[in-house]
Amino acid sequence: MEQNKKGYYTDHPIVRNISVLLLIGLTPPAAIVFWYTSQYLNGSFVELFRFFGKQGFFSGMYQIWAPVFWGSKTAWSIIGIYAAVELVLMKILPGKTVYGPKTPNGYTPIYKNNGFLAFLVSLALLWLFGFQLKVFDPAIIYDHFGEILGALNVFSLLFCLLLYFKGIYKPSTPDSGSSGNPLFDYYWGTDLYPHIFGFNVKHFTNCRFGMMAWPLLIISFAVKQHELYGISDSMIVSVALQLIYCAIFFYYESGYFKTMDIQEDRAGYYIVWGVMVWIPAVYTLTAHYLVQHPVHIGPVYSTVLVAVALLGFYSKTNMNRQRIHVRNNDGDYQIWGHKAKIIRAQFVDQKGEKRESLLLVDGWWGISRHFHYVGEILGALCWSLPALFINFMPYFYVVYLTILLFHRAKRDDVKCRLKYGTYWDEYCKSVPYKIIPGIY
Ligand code: NDP
Repeated sequence: MEQNKKGYYTDHPIVRNISVLLLIGLTPPAAIVFWYTSQYLNGSFVELFRFFGKQGFFSGMYQIWAPVFWGSKTAWSIIGIYAAVELVLMKILPGKTVYGPKTPNGYTPIYKNNGFLAFLVSLALLWLFGFQLKVFDPAIIYDHFGEILGALNVFSLLFCLLLYFKGIYKPSTPDSGSSGNPLFDYYWGTDLYPHIFGFNVKHFTNCRFGMMAWPLLIISFAVKQHELYGISDSMIVSVALQLIYCAIFFYYESGYFKTMDIQEDRAGYYIVWGVMVWIPAVYTLTAHYLVQHPVHIGPVYSTVLVAVALLGFYSKTNMNRQRIHVRNNDGDYQIWGHKAKIIRAQFVDQKGEKRESLLLVDGWWGISRHFHYVGEILGALCWSLPALFINFMPYFYVVYLTILLFHRAKRDDVKCRLKYGTYWDEYCKSVPYKIIPGIY
């Protein structure tokens, strides 16, 4: 798919409509089916196929989805309290003001950089009310997870509809509008930076709702395993690595404001439903599966997994830091013992103004154009491997992530070629591989 200057995709309308319909039609049932398989079918896709074979697909789907479709009182209460707490934390916690990249229409997003503090406070609140004061059992999320996913799905689908109309009739910024195709607009979004009651919607949904749910969910899953069987070392390793990953994400949350999710993806089904339902349902699958499979992996295997994952996290984080420092210092920055090699790339923004940006041709950015994806995949593999090789379910996320990132590398190249033209070609000549040097 190619992007045009307005950011819309310009593939054939029939192909586009079919792809969009398939994605919107298939991802919600998939999220629910994954939960059901992990919870009731031993995390086994073979058992799932047998189940559908016996029940028939539609009647099987009904059996799985109907009991949790609308959520439950408990599920809605958990979601409501969680969302309210995160909104309050987003507003009241202190943090420096940071600015996102100026949009093609000249809008500069403003954020309060308090993500890491919100992460720590969220964990502290769970510890205080769940473990110390025992106001609720932290395993309650696991016990009601199917209903929670059902409620999240209904809420997100409606919320995306609201965002669709808001972007058309009451947009928050100039970077908004319709592509002329309502189906595509619902999927892709109509507003790049919508605000509701003064809250930046994507900052909330992506970071403080979706990403923040991840650590809380996996802690709940670990508590459930502890209640059922005692905690296993496989669960400790997997959850610890995911918590470190989430901590790094929130520590560098301001860097996330410069990624494609925020700069390119409008607030529609693709990103908003994705972060509000797909992240809770799919990113946590390994820990969810481990609850009922408390395998023992021993200290040697554990140490190797932790060491490799930390190496992956380091490479990806350091690569992001290299870019930030080089750009903040206008290229005057040392990488690996020498002055960083850069390309001063000129481009014309949508207002027709000439601007300049720096492309690093050095450090991690000189190995491949998206080498940080290797670290990302390695980390996810290392928190999946504690589940050993009994079922495929705990590996679903890492396989999905690999496909997503290989596609994303392509998307990003299209975006950069469109933006930088021959300067991008010059970079690609020096760094010919997208992700894995010598292979891809
Ligand atoms: P990147 O951090 O890779 O940023 C891509 C942008 O960087 C480009 O669009 C371009 O933007 C700029 N750029 C490209 N080449 C260069 C260069 N040589 N020198 C300097 N700048 C360059 O974006 P992503 O959003 O893909 O990834 C962000 C992080 O999020 C990664 O660590 C990734 O692993 C992670 N991620 C995780 C996912 C998950 O589901 N777990 C999904 C997606 C990403 P510009 O216009 O500024 O030049």
